[in-house]
Amino acid sequence: MFFLLAVLFVIAIASCKKSADAPATPQSVIETTDPAKKVYNYIIGLGFPAHSIVDQPGEYIVEGDIRFPKDMVIPNVSTEQYYTGSLVSATNVANIRLFVDASMTSMLSEINSAISQWNSISGCNIHWTVVTSGAYDVLITNYNLGNGVCGQGTFPSGGKAGNLIRINKNYIAGNSFAQRARTICHEMGHNVSFRHTNWASIGESTAIDVPGVGGPDASSLMNGGQCGSGATVLSDKDKQAAAVLY
Ligand SMILES: [Zn+2]
Repeated sequence: MFFLLAVLFVIAIASCKKSADAPATPQSVIETTDPAKKVYNYIIGLGFPAHSIVDQPGEYIVEGDIRFPKDMVIPNVSTEQYYTGSLVSATNVANIRLFVDASMTSMLSEINSAISQWNSISGCNIHWTVVTSGAYDVLITNYNLGNGVCGQGTFPSGGKAGNLIRINKNYIAGNSFAQRARTICHEMGHNVSFRHTNWASIGESTAIDVPGVGGPDASSLMNGGQCGSGATVLSDKDKQAAAVLY
C-alpha cells in the first residue's frame, strides 16, 4: 500500500510539473507564420485561456478589457519574464504622451485625475502628459463596448506603452466622478503592463508577480471585473508595484 501511494505521489508530482512547465494549452497554439496568429500564440503563452480570447478585425480582445493589436511587436521572452519583456522602456515611461480624442474631451477632468494618480507615485518614473497635437504614444477614445465593459487597455510592446485606451463613455456616464476616473486609471495601468491583481479569483490564468509585491489586494485599483464599484485610488501595493517595475 505504501508503495502504491508512493507511485501515485510521484505521478502526481510529475503531472503537476508538466502543467507548470506548460502554462499554455498546447492544443490551442496555432502553428503558423501568420503575424496575427503569432500574436494569438503570444497571448496563449502569457497564460490567458483560449476561451478568453475574442478574434476581432485587427486585434484580439482578452478577458473583455485588454486588447492585443494583431501587428504588435511580440517580446522575445518567456512568460517567466513577463514583466521585464512587457515593460515600457525607461525613457518612454518618463514621458507617456496621451492624446485625448475629441470624443473624450468631455471627460478631461477624469483623465487628469487618473493621470495625477500615476504621476504622483513616489520612487516611480511613470509620467503621463496630455497632448493635444503632434506626436503621441497613447490615444484615449470613446468606444461602444456594449454592456458590462467599462473600458479596454493595451499591454506595452516594443518598449512602448500600449497605444490605445477605449472608454465606454455612455456606459460609465452614470457612474460617480471617482468611478469614471477609476476606469481610466485602471486602463492606463494595463497600458504600462499591469495585469489584474485579482487574476486568480476571477478565473484568469497565471500572472507573474511583481517581485516582492505578489498576492491578493482587495483595495487594488487593478482588480478586474469591478467596473463602477472598485477602488478609486491606487492602493499602497499598487504604488509599490509601480515603483518596482519603473
Ligand atoms: Zn482590466
